[in-house]
Amino acid sequence: MPELSADLYGTISHKLDALNPSGIRAFDKEVSKIPGIIKLTVGEPDFNTPEHVKQAAIKSIQDDDSHYAPQAGKPELLAAISDYLSDTRGIKYDPESEIVVTVGATEALDATFFSLLNTGDKVIVPTPAFALYFPLIAMTGATAIQVDTSADNFVLTPEHLEQVLAKEGKGAKAVLLNYPSNPTGREYPEELLKGLAKVIANHHLYAIADEIYSELVYGVDHYSIASMIPERTLLISGLSKSHAMTGYRLGYVAGPAQIMKSILKMHAYLVTTVTDNAQVAATEALTNGAADPIAFRKSYRKRRDLVIDGLTKLGFGMATPQGAFYIFAKIPEFFGKDDEKFARDLANQAKVGVTPGSAFGAGGEGYIRLSYASSEEDLTAALARIAGFVKKLE
Ligand code: PMP
Repeated sequence: MPELSADLYGTISHKLDALNPSGIRAFDKEVSKIPGIIKLTVGEPDFNTPEHVKQAAIKSIQDDDSHYAPQAGKPELLAAISDYLSDTRGIKYDPESEIVVTVGATEALDATFFSLLNTGDKVIVPTPAFALYFPLIAMTGATAIQVDTSADNFVLTPEHLEQVLAKEGKGAKAVLLNYPSNPTGREYPEELLKGLAKVIANHHLYAIADEIYSELVYGVDHYSIASMIPERTLLISGLSKSHAMTGYRLGYVAGPAQIMKSILKMHAYLVTTVTDNAQVAATEALTNGAADPIAFRKSYRKRRDLVIDGLTKLGFGMATPQGAFYIFAKIPEFFGKDDEKFARDLANQAKVGVTPGSAFGAGGEGYIRLSYASSEEDLTAALARIAGFVKKLE
């Protein structure tokens, strides 16, 4: 096809020009071209979707579930999510007015930001953070205030939040928390969440809680800020990570009915509703799938320990990741702080792909993120390659 002429191109919307595509995907694309590379870059479970969930999806196609589902979601799925949240968080969400099923947690975030944020609002984002938050917040006309948590082992403390609000709190609307965290794997203990909940309530803010990794925790319990301040929390989650269902695109947001009304409106305009069959599969996963996340957790934990052990011996530092499937490792001192150079050299010279920490915002400089959702053989081989690379540099 011929290219657009300059005058035609000039007339298209340039609203998105200032938003850069995720640094993670860009870097991943670059390193993927290197022959023989072991990629520890992408945040995706390496398990297949559990068999009983696949069977439910197949049966749903055969049963002709090929119609528009209700916009907020199929009643059986909404009921299953409500029961799941009641069992795991102790909160009773009304399936008819307080939950919307979305296209992955990504759309849940998108619809939540659009429904909550006005132009000029500020969202407090503890960093390093999932890179997608920044363009999504910017698209609403709001601003993300990055709060570097590297000095506190990558958690936002109530005291730190108070300080930030005292300095930059004018126009603040919400605090965005992601625990367990991508990229650091850090979980928020109950007492800390209680402290944050108090500050958030005192300042009349909302909490947006991205709990997509809540089923993947190792040796700690998962608590939700939604259990503490449900009336001002938008709880976001989904089945991508817990049930290895990234491709089904199944997420949800739960919160107070008045806000959910606008989220539903936004969702209806964006996508109408989520794929009918994916919703049937998700209902099966939540209703009969209690054992799946437990098996995943066991396997991830073993691999996490393997990578922590290997990296620590090589002089990398880290705050122990307690959840998700990432390790956020501090590059050995002698190398300096240029994480992008480190990751690029590691990819080119040792054929291991990792993500530079600075892709995740303030506090990520001098770190790399490794995803351990890869086979033990790949992780062992990658560690041997990293060891060779680091020894050569020393
Ligand atoms: N939040 C976080 C913190 C994530 O890491 C991801 C996926 N990498 C998402 C949300 C998006 O999840 P989904 O695939 O369900 O859209």
